[in-house]
Amino acid sequence: MFSLTAHGAAEEVGRSAFVLDFGEKFLLDYGIKLNPESVDYPLEINEHVKAVILSHAHLDHSGLLPYFYKKSECLSFMTQPTLDISDVLWKDSIKIAEFEGMAPKYNKAEIERTHRYNFVAPYKKELHLTKEVSLEFFDAGHILGSALTKLTFNDKSFLYTGDYKLEETRLHKGCDMSVGKVDYVMIESTYGDRIHPNRKDVEKRFCESVQETINSGGWAIVPVLAVGRSQEVLDVLSNYHIDADIYLDGMGKQMAEIYIKHSDLIKDPKQLKRALNDAIWVKGQSGRKKALKKPCIIVTTSGMMKGGPVVGYLEKLINDPRSKIHLTSYQAEGTPGRMLMDEGKVPFGKDGSIIKPLCKYEKFEFSAHPSQEEMLKSLKAWDPKKVFLVHGDKKVMPVFKKKIESTLGIETVVLQMGKKIEFD
Ligand SMILES: [Zn+2]
Ligand SMILES: [Zn+2]
Repeated sequence: MFSLTAHGAAEEVGRSAFVLDFGEKFLLDYGIKLNPESVDYPLEINEHVKAVILSHAHLDHSGLLPYFYKKSECLSFMTQPTLDISDVLWKDSIKIAEFEGMAPKYNKAEIERTHRYNFVAPYKKELHLTKEVSLEFFDAGHILGSALTKLTFNDKSFLYTGDYKLEETRLHKGCDMSVGKVDYVMIESTYGDRIHPNRKDVEKRFCESVQETINSGGWAIVPVLAVGRSQEVLDVLSNYHIDADIYLDGMGKQMAEIYIKHSDLIKDPKQLKRALNDAIWVKGQSGRKKALKKPCIIVTTSGMMKGGPVVGYLEKLINDPRSKIHLTSYQAEGTPGRMLMDEGKVPFGKDGSIIKPLCKYEKFEFSAHPSQEEMLKSLKAWDPKKVFLVHGDKKVMPVFKKKIESTLGIETVVLQMGKKIEFD
């Protein structure tokens, strides 16, 4: 008998953490949930786990690992880019916590300790974690270094998708489907109730909108997530040959360096390098002043406009009717980006008073997650006898469960927080 317990990401998106008892216990991901005003943590791990496996570097999957290593001595497994990106994000989390006057959950020494217990695992190489359990990573196509985790115990196999993308995007080929058939799948459900618009159409509309903004004498502001989206947006823009300077600001710069370092894992490394090198990397306030001198494209964090350099740019441009905000990522409830899309208003200035901006704004659906269609297609190929749903909003889960059961006839379980599910 095996078991699976969600310590987070059960009927919610964020703080992924799952304990799989597969002969021995393994912790799959250990992330946090960033809310607009607070952070949610997964349930404590009080049991002895044999190893931790990280699917990818996004904080909702990796953010609490150094806290786990305050007391743990087991090995962790992840790809090299996941480790490189996580390291930057962990260090940044300490800075943000201190800046916001909150006590960080871990310190720099604990990040160093986390590195000591890490074992870097490449894609498509089977590693024996114990005598009976082996691990193999496959490219998940979600962000640089993201992995599908396949665990095998004797003749039984379990696949954890983490966040993945089946369709190809500008940067990634789409997830590696050579995993083949497995017995059990634990799958993300972010867009389990939705079909995405055609990617190429979205890219075209986005570039046209940026071009129109420049032509009308305005600034095209593109708030982006530092990991993945900022590199992808630069790649898309560079390919469209818009006649304007493109500025890159915020943490996307540090991440761009990691993308360049591991560009062999990218679909078209040359094109990405060209796009990143063509952009002007903003250095400090003088760089920002320069960007505001004449109409241009500003690609900057944060993606939901909650903080980061985008706030400074908006102070100058939010009431310029020629300029336009191009949102490119998921906008969480309670963030300025979400408020802008839902109500046409944003908190502004030091006192956070709510204003109706005069600049234009639009959201573009660049998703790094699979649509319902893509997930059904991949589940059909993996052909498991049981599916476990995680990483999706409460209202999405029953819709997706029903769809899987009615179209594929596979028994599907929605994981609930802290509730152990047994299976064999
Ligand atoms: Zn992710
Ligand atoms: Zn995620």
